[in-house]
Amino acid sequence: MTAPFLSLAQILNRLALTARWILRDHQPTPCGRCPICHTADCAVATAARNVLEATRRMRWGDPVQQQAATDPAAPDHDEPRQAG
Ligand SMILES: [Zn+2]
Repeated sequence: MTAPFLSLAQILNRLALTARWILRDHQPTPCGRCPICHTADCAVATAARNVLEATRRMRWGDPVQQQAATDPAAPDHDEPRQAG
């Protein structure tokens, strides 16, 4: 449905809107199962959450990466912590 004349912001908006529709449809029942997929771990809802997270990062940036880029004294999370 996305046409080439849409801006990136419009495409991101449509992706986020569609992901929210999917999350609403695949919202687990009180017993924890998806009412459409009938599974406890709905892959469709997980994909929709990933799309929302990706669109949020595209709009606002990744706060972890921004913190590391602006603060050179920030500790590197990959380094092992020293005991003691
Ligand atoms: Zn589902």
